[in-house]
Amino acid sequence: MSNVLAEKDVAAEEQVQTLEHEMECPRCHDLMTLCSDFDCLYYICEDCDFCLYTIKKD
Ligand SMILES: [Zn+2]
Repeated sequence: MSNVLAEKDVAAEEQVQTLEHEMECPRCHDLMTLCSDFDCLYYICEDCDFCLYTIKKD
């Protein structure tokens, strides 16, 4: 079977893959890009700098 130690990382990756890589900015309706930080994922709109946090990785 698969490596037990890797299970947590795989679960996090699957969670990421369910997110769209781009979404529409609620402020200016431009496309927002999915970015990752140390402990979270967020969408950033380069047009108006609106930042939308999504999930926190533990
Ligand atoms: Zn925007």
